[in-house]
Amino acid sequence: MSRRSLRTGLWAAQLVAVFSLLGAAQPARAQFHLPKGLQKYAQKAEDIHKSMTITVDQEKDIGREVAAKLIGYYHLYNNPALAQYVNLVGETVAAQSPRQDIQYHFAILDSDDINAVSAPGGFIFITRGALALCDDESELAGVLAHEVAHVTDKHVVKVIERDKGMAAGFQEASTHMQSDKYKQMLQNMSKNVLVNLLDHGLAPADEYDADEKGVMFAHAAGYPADGLERFLIKMGEATKGNEVPYWSKTHPPVADRNTRIQQEITSQGWQDQNRPRLAERFEMVVAALKPKS
Ligand SMILES: [Zn+2]
Repeated sequence: MSRRSLRTGLWAAQLVAVFSLLGAAQPARAQFHLPKGLQKYAQKAEDIHKSMTITVDQEKDIGREVAAKLIGYYHLYNNPALAQYVNLVGETVAAQSPRQDIQYHFAILDSDDINAVSAPGGFIFITRGALALCDDESELAGVLAHEVAHVTDKHVVKVIERDKGMAAGFQEASTHMQSDKYKQMLQNMSKNVLVNLLDHGLAPADEYDADEKGVMFAHAAGYPADGLERFLIKMGEATKGNEVPYWSKTHPPVADRNTRIQQEITSQGWQDQNRPRLAERFEMVVAALKPKS
């Protein structure tokens, strides 16, 4: 077993362990709407006038809980070779992020929906449906780089810090990070964070920011800069019907995003058509996900 797959395996084992400690989440299969058990957290807010800064250790703790819950609700797609490949591509773009005080982990959720999501601390997920929509590695790199950028700029962490009720309770509980109170607070907070991520999404400004930085990371890693743009065009077409998959629901309109991405690529002079999109090696690993024709 290579070091990388060993590490990926350890991470998965750790998350499973964390999740089993949390106890009985009901498996809500395959659908990407908000699971029932989380709905009551959507309205929860207290108005305590304190603010706080989440430390990196606390961010990782929150991220681990959010990741464990996501996996508990949606389940990992069981394909070690594909998971290893997604980690390889993800780590390649994450290496271009200025934020290297955390380790980035990538995993595949077993859902048909077209979706990608990042938890604080560097836990990044893409659905099987989003992977199947990619036609080459540069598109996958573009999607993962967008999620890396959310982590780099701590978009979710800042949402928590701005939520005075949540932040105040967490600050109080954090004085003893091994205490039951802290662990309970982590669980409650991770549910709130999940609701924000899956139901409301982040502010449009954060999404445009993640697009801009994601394109930058992907290009700096050697990929064509337009991978995300090509993916978004297909996502826009795939989501034209009645169903509105998650990435469309919680992100600004595709046309607006792509206009900005095109402006960025033009102004930076990144229209390099000669860079390989790496379709062949992508197809070799991802072929099993594609619909049979
Ligand atoms: Zn986003």
